[in-house]
Amino acid sequence: MSSHLANIDRKRLEQSIDELGRIGETPRGGLTRLALTDEDKRGRDLMVRWMREAGLRVTVDQMGNIFGERAGSQALPPVMMGSHVDSVPTGGKYDGQLGVLCGLETIRALNAQKIRTRHPVTLAIFTSEEGARFQPAMIASGVMAGKIALEDAYNARDKDGIRLVDELERIGYLGSEPCVPRPFRAYLELHIEQGPLLEEAGLSVGVVDGIVAISWARLTIHGVQDHAGPTPMRIRHDALVAAAEVVTGARTIATELGGDLVTTVGNLVVHPNIVNAIPGKVTMSIDMRDPRDETLEVARRCLDAVVEVACEREGVRYELEHYWRVPYTPFAHDVVAAIERAANAAGARWRHILSGAGHDAQYMAAIGPAGMIFVPSRGGRSHCEEEFTPMDDIEHGAATLFLAVLDLAGRV
Ligand SMILES: [Zn+2]
Repeated sequence: MSSHLANIDRKRLEQSIDELGRIGETPRGGLTRLALTDEDKRGRDLMVRWMREAGLRVTVDQMGNIFGERAGSQALPPVMMGSHVDSVPTGGKYDGQLGVLCGLETIRALNAQKIRTRHPVTLAIFTSEEGARFQPAMIASGVMAGKIALEDAYNARDKDGIRLVDELERIGYLGSEPCVPRPFRAYLELHIEQGPLLEEAGLSVGVVDGIVAISWARLTIHGVQDHAGPTPMRIRHDALVAAAEVVTGARTIATELGGDLVTTVGNLVVHPNIVNAIPGKVTMSIDMRDPRDETLEVARRCLDAVVEVACEREGVRYELEHYWRVPYTPFAHDVVAAIERAANAAGARWRHILSGAGHDAQYMAAIGPAGMIFVPSRGGRSHCEEEFTPMDDIEHGAATLFLAVLDLAGRV
């Protein structure tokens, strides 16, 4: 039986999720649809077909971003909904996909109810959000926001040396519309939470206030490579021993500063990485995130101290580069307020929440009023085949999106 919460057709939405989810489906029910592969093309083609069938005017820009516009009664900037249809390897069917499909459902519901809006309503699909094949992540919204040069994005290469621009052309999505900031009344992105908070609280919707500040550092430790046998412990300068102290030190920074700070050493390369040699060199990454820029600044200074102490103790040289920093991205008050009203009107149980992950909405917030709607991730898990969001929650999220769009676009 299909319900019609705020005109959302649950059954139609569920069928679309299933159908798009079959393109690049893994044997264990996950999704592998890397950016600009044949699977990505098939996913895009299906979306474009559905967008045209819904009466949208579809255009593609120089970065392969797809826009489908539903005209408004006046020549005003559109209310945009968007997300992405690429995935990580053996990822899930909800990350990105859900935002695009709930956006499509919103358009279909507007059509079914013959609702006219003052502002146009546009559905956007951003190219290569995940950064799994081409780095950096969110590359196409980054170009659109003027934060990444088009040339640099075009020259991004995958691990086989294939250029992004060549793949765009190959799959037929090298469009002609300039990829530049465009005016919009609001940008709304529905996305899975990718954390456990909504599920733990038994809520369907998160009204996202902003995206946490992020700091990335790269540490290279130069020890002395030597034989694991004849070299006495007292004369060793082991790069990995110093690195190990930094790994646990990074954890201690988070536990001691507390609050919402999270720290992760996710990449560690040991050289020569063999059984019988003392590691002569280690490179590692340190990812730190906090909603408060000031806390992140303190964490950075703590990291500097941890690294200095660890390397001094082991008698090794090091270079520490803090090479990437994004400040806290607050979402627009009027958009957040519209999402709140919509969540209430949809009868959703909701709370305010922050995003710990980057999204296209982060770059969109740099050029116009943006906001996000989260729906729960079972077990807090994402970027894996177990990624799952129950239909009841998706329905409440979609209804919230629909009502927020209607609110911001203005019903005629
Ligand atoms: Zn995503």
